Amino acid sequence: MNQRNNRRLVLFPVPFQGHINPMLQLAQILHNRGFSITILHTDLNAPDPSSHPHFAFRSIGDGLGQSEVSTSDLVRLMALINARCAAPFEERLREEASSPDTPITCLIVDALFGFTRDVAERAGVRRMVLRTGGATSLRVFARFRLLRERGYLPIEECRLEDPVAEFPPLQVKDLPGINTAEPKQLDQLLSDMIEGLRDSAGVILNTFEDLEQPALSLLRQEYPIAIFPIGPFHKCSSSSSGSLLAEDQSCISWLDKQAPNSVVYVSFGSIAAVSESEYSEIALGLADSQQPFLWVVRPGSVHGSEALEKLPSCFLAALEERGKIVTWAPQQEVLAHRAVGAFWTHNGWNSTLESISEGVPMICMPCFSDQKVNARFVSDVWRVGLHLNNGLERRKIAEAIRKLLVEKEREEVRERAAQLKEKADSCLRQGGSSFRSLDGLANHILASESFVFGSNESSA
Ligand code: UDP
Repeated sequence: MNQRNNRRLVLFPVPFQGHINPMLQLAQILHNRGFSITILHTDLNAPDPSSHPHFAFRSIGDGLGQSEVSTSDLVRLMALINARCAAPFEERLREEASSPDTPITCLIVDALFGFTRDVAERAGVRRMVLRTGGATSLRVFARFRLLRERGYLPIEECRLEDPVAEFPPLQVKDLPGINTAEPKQLDQLLSDMIEGLRDSAGVILNTFEDLEQPALSLLRQEYPIAIFPIGPFHKCSSSSSGSLLAEDQSCISWLDKQAPNSVVYVSFGSIAAVSESEYSEIALGLADSQQPFLWVVRPGSVHGSEALEKLPSCFLAALEERGKIVTWAPQQEVLAHRAVGAFWTHNGWNSTLESISEGVPMICMPCFSDQKVNARFVSDVWRVGLHLNNGLERRKIAEAIRKLLVEKEREEVRERAAQLKEKADSCLRQGGSSFRSLDGLANHILASESFVFGSNESSA
């Protein structure tokens, strides 16, 4: 670990698992570079300070009620979080900024916290942005309005297979739709995010040059700001888990007993949910595949049902013979396990990157938002996975699993996945693109001292 540099960074994650993880990983990376870390967080999904004893945690009272946060409309929820957090965040930031001990060198916020732009300016604190998704999907989000104007959105059934000329190889069905009763709020969130990036002191991305070079180079042309692709974050530092649910470690000893590359790991992240009939079809597909499986069924991952009792009876026999179900897994450890030969995923960006980092081929089942863009790139650009097109059907599921675990063609996909893993490894080694970008980021933050207002300058 580098020497402490007496500079403090304040980080503010959006309170969802897929945003908390990369922000805490980034905090660990910067802590390793000598920075002191303060995490501001909402009461909703507050991180566990005991897992990160070297960070300071400060809550901002968000005032969000249980009934408000239990909505399944993510756009409405995110807009509400932005609205409720603005005042308490400003109060907390001012308090922190006036602390005589270690002033704030830089604030790093999640890109979805659009309101922080004005607040940081008023408080005289320099603000950088972490975008937790990929560079390619960020470019698509930035063109949302244009895609609407050109008639791609809202998506029409008859145009699903049409190419999106502006973003090859995306088809209309890959555009990042989110079901919401508030489409205007979605547009507002996205335009606030893009304006917030444009006006920031720099953007940090959890990606790497060899993975998304075309999108990164276009972003650099389109936005006259510093961009730091320093991922994959989780491989840069051994950060403690930021899991909001308890990780079931028993799946690791279960994996220890399985043959190399024999298991399909099934997890659809922290938010996506399936219907009861899709749930049954997944179970039957797993049973029909005849392959060992580790399946994460978290509370809330089946619409209208919390229970595992709904599993079809013929599946239970397969479960006893060669399957394991857990409510939450230590996913990075699972993907790094030699027994795991395929990952059936919803293609959230963290899951996608974690799979790429371990060279595990994917079965792609994107549900909403950037997952659809990520999935298309996994199957058609990086070619390290198969797309489960056109709905969930037990026969197709079993076929896809067997293709990646048993049949001859698995070799080619595995070979490409191994090559991409090597690129992910090498970008982090000394002289690699993410390694150099992280040096650049640390220098950029330190150089920001001259931009910091008030008492901060005296600490330099
Ligand atoms: N995750 C985990 N255990 C699980 C399922 C998921 O630790 O059983 C982690 C996973 O490693 C990833 C995050 O939760 O870091 C999910 O983020 P992602 O972007 O993939 O999807 P989201 O949950 O945002 O849809």
